[in-house]
Amino acid sequence: MDLSEQNKGTASVWAGETESFANGAVTSPVVKSVAFAYHDLDDWYEVATGKADGHIYSRNTNPTVHVLEEKIRILESAEAATSFATGMGAISNTLFALLGPGKRVVSIKDTYGGTSRLFLDFLPSYQIDVRLCETGNHEAMEAEMAKGCDLVYLETPTNPTLKVVDIKRLSAAAHQVGAVVVVDNTFATPINQNPLKLGADLVLHSATKFLGGHSDAMGGLLCGKKELVEKVFRFREINGASLQADPAYLIARGMKTLELRIERQNASALKIARFLKAHPKISDVFYPGLETHPGHEIAAAQMSGFGGVMSFALNGDYEDVKTFLTSLRFVHLAASLGSVSTLAGPPRTTSHVELTTEQRAQLGIPESLIRYSVGIENVEDLIGDLSQALAALEPVFQDEKIGLS
Ligand SMILES: *Cc1c(COP(=O)(O)O)cnc(C)c1O
Repeated sequence: MDLSEQNKGTASVWAGETESFANGAVTSPVVKSVAFAYHDLDDWYEVATGKADGHIYSRNTNPTVHVLEEKIRILESAEAATSFATGMGAISNTLFALLGPGKRVVSIKDTYGGTSRLFLDFLPSYQIDVRLCETGNHEAMEAEMAKGCDLVYLETPTNPTLKVVDIKRLSAAAHQVGAVVVVDNTFATPINQNPLKLGADLVLHSATKFLGGHSDAMGGLLCGKKELVEKVFRFREINGASLQADPAYLIARGMKTLELRIERQNASALKIARFLKAHPKISDVFYPGLETHPGHEIAAAQMSGFGGVMSFALNGDYEDVKTFLTSLRFVHLAASLGSVSTLAGPPRTTSHVELTTEQRAQLGIPESLIRYSVGIENVEDLIGDLSQALAALEPVFQDEKIGLS
């Protein structure tokens, strides 16, 4: 059954699961087998040499893992997909498989922390030239690409200040110099944004976040042009960062409710962002759905929803952050994002813990910033919770104190 023309909510449920399973099971079995046996040596040879479909050894391919790969392939309208043990597995395998000594990468300063480490510490030691531009300065990126470029790496919206870059514009510039465009689509999810339709060649996801959605399984996914995905797959087979059947099952199960969750999280996040924006104890709200966000126009053009993650700064210092966060009731103070339960934390202890206060300031990350990943709880309960935690803070403005007296 071809699901590529179906709506995403339908494809999330059915992709990879249209064939009947053993015993008439209505959900994909978790196939834990390491190896797959053949009675006929000729059949075995055909599968082993890629001439026939089938599985040989689970480091390479596995039936349960394949179900998950089909789901992302259909949701991102991709030719091919493959998977990894974690999101960082997807990112590092992609970069190491496609790059080599003498190659040149153009990217942004605000990539995910682990990705930044690859760009700043690991790739340069393989004589790969990495240029990181100010996130949102499209002219600077285009100028760097024009000097020669093999790979353009984008992430939008970014972590933690939700900056937005124009995928269509930068993909067009990259293709003029023959560069491959890779987009980390973790924050947006395929429900809100489809980079391949905007011109990107490859899309990757930390499936650990929204795709799995329940904070109980780690995984990474890559999809896009067949030739490129196969090149990365060949490397991953040998590199060994393969996804196991158990987490693949949990992520595929999570993906069946992806559209439901994302629609809810989009709506709740927008409502919460507007509530916070109007609150006197909040100095800044970073959410691309707000008209005042500098990336709003681009986000509105390339996204169909603005996602479940935002960040905001308190009108106060780090002590206020401690008081506020520990006063919240419906939140886990934890790293990660994209779960059914609301998660929050300061970049100072999560995504940007390795940076100094000054380095964070350079990236526009104030010390009183809080990243808030909206769960699927009732939005009125979340707003009530934020409201009572804000009330726990001392009034910050002199005039507000006068107003109260
Ligand atoms: C979490 C995350 C990653 C890394 O994924 P893991 O599954 O933790 O390895 C990469 N990119 C983004 C945007 C993320 O949020």
